[in-house]
Amino acid sequence: MLTAIGARVPFIYFDGQNEPVIRLEAFAVEDSNGLCEICREKAATRTCELCGRRVCDADWSSGYCAACENALCRVCRKRLSVGYCAVCGKLVCEDCSIELGAARVCKPCALELGLNTRR
Ligand SMILES: [Zn+2]
Ligand SMILES: [Zn+2]
Ligand SMILES: [Zn+2]
Ligand SMILES: [Zn+2]
Repeated sequence: MLTAIGARVPFIYFDGQNEPVIRLEAFAVEDSNGLCEICREKAATRTCELCGRRVCDADWSSGYCAACENALCRVCRKRLSVGYCAVCGKLVCEDCSIELGAARVCKPCALELGLNTRR
């Protein structure tokens, strides 16, 4: 688990083992005076709960920033996806898919194929 140190230096992380990681890109964002971290043009009005980005209204959809929205599970739309369903090609999260050997199949497809969705 990464831990953020201090409110004024939120972009330095310790993972308890390695040297502190300073995220320079994030520093640049802090200097941008509350601009959206995706388009960097409009004022940020919201904070994404998943990634913590500050984004503008245009880069916000259904509770997440546009970047997270792109990576959201297409089944539950709540969690970040971990891969693609081998059958329908949808992005799916761990909870909405089952692993079939090296492949991943979303639960809706698994049900359709009559696969056991219990793990
Ligand atoms: Zn924006
Ligand atoms: Zn986000
Ligand atoms: Zn899901
Ligand atoms: Zn599928």
